[in-house]
Amino acid sequence: MPFPWMPHELETLATAGLRRGRRVVRPLPGGACEIGMRRLWNFASNDYLGLAADSRLVDSAKTALSDAGVGSRASALVTGRTEWHAQLEQSLARFEGQEAAMLFPTGYAANVGTIAALVEDDDVVFCDRLNHASLIDGCRLSGAKLRVFRHTELDTLERELSKASGFRRRLIVTDAVFSMDGDVVPLCELCDLAERFDAEVLVDEAHGTGVFGEHGRGVCEHLAVENRVSVRVGTLSKAIGTLGGFVAGPQTLIDWLWNKARPQVFSTALPPAICAAATAAIEIIQDEPELRAKLWRNCEFVRRELMKGSGVFFRSDERPLSTGSQKDDQERGADLKKTPDPVAWCGNLVGPIIPIVMGDPEAAVAAQQRLEERGFLVAAIRPPTVPQGTSRLRISLSAAHDEAALQNLVDALREVVPIP
Ligand SMILES: *Cc1c(COP(=O)(O)O)cnc(C)c1O
Repeated sequence: MPFPWMPHELETLATAGLRRGRRVVRPLPGGACEIGMRRLWNFASNDYLGLAADSRLVDSAKTALSDAGVGSRASALVTGRTEWHAQLEQSLARFEGQEAAMLFPTGYAANVGTIAALVEDDDVVFCDRLNHASLIDGCRLSGAKLRVFRHTELDTLERELSKASGFRRRLIVTDAVFSMDGDVVPLCELCDLAERFDAEVLVDEAHGTGVFGEHGRGVCEHLAVENRVSVRVGTLSKAIGTLGGFVAGPQTLIDWLWNKARPQVFSTALPPAICAAATAAIEIIQDEPELRAKLWRNCEFVRRELMKGSGVFFRSDERPLSTGSQKDDQERGADLKKTPDPVAWCGNLVGPIIPIVMGDPEAAVAAQQRLEERGFLVAAIRPPTVPQGTSRLRISLSAAHDEAALQNLVDALREVVPIP
């Protein structure tokens, strides 16, 4: 047998509660799904606005499908870039208020390809410890010196930056919304540091696009730092409901990436039908702010219900996300540090991602199973996706959920996870 060491290693993973399984999931309308003939409310998807099954996306995709077929047949630089690709690039650029935009096969590829195209051996890249794997992999692949700082600890970042003047270029990469914790990066303060130490900032808006900001452009819009951030990366596979990654920015940056971003140059272009659907989604995000408002009402509803009778679940002095002043962000940073170390319960202040940190992987998986018995699909997240000792349930909310589903979820959570 090839790889004779594998059965033992898989067993080791299983013993540690870390072996991954896989199932067949059938999506249903209204933020639900079916697994093994059972209907579940889906609180584990990233379809924040319920657009993945929107009939307008489906119709746009169908039209492109019958016009262009399924596959795109080649990479974008050869013959893969159709009119649907060009149109999507254009509408992304307009939506983001940037000169140009460029597509990638996935958000993962966009991060890896972009970072590796921006820094190399003589450079240094600064990376939050809880950044998404694709940012970390991009940093590693780039060959630049990697400086990892503890989650949102900007004083550590400042110290590292102050020692980095000898490098040719400095790049700070960060998630806008941290995917497993749901908290938002203190971007104003981070941009202050970048400007002070002559560094550029790359922000991954994977969970920001379509969710944050008055026009849905993301956390950079919400915190009014769009002009201070050098590169914005996004994904089409979360709120936009389709597949693919993108970068929006000045024409020169996009021209550079067309020349240097290897995952884009050496992968086949996205299917035209996907581009058509994504273009329709961006139109909806621009024309229907009420979708975003519904999502935020859902977020507030669940937090409010979870807080009832429990001072521990969320901080009682909860206050809305800061809106740009440096002082706000400093206060928020201090607040975050005051939050006690998670033992059983924790939460973040804003947005559709609510983590419930439980510690052991077995505890998180057991809670997931008990929720599933009650009709709710909630992800159990374990290392290496999160640090050791912080296995958790990760609830993600969508505009597709109705209030009854949310109330039932909260009731089930109270049964399944002991509230202090
Ligand atoms: C999901 C995610 C990605 C990857 O996006 P895909 O389009 O799914 O490859 C990148 N960054 C963050 C923060 C994410 O959560």
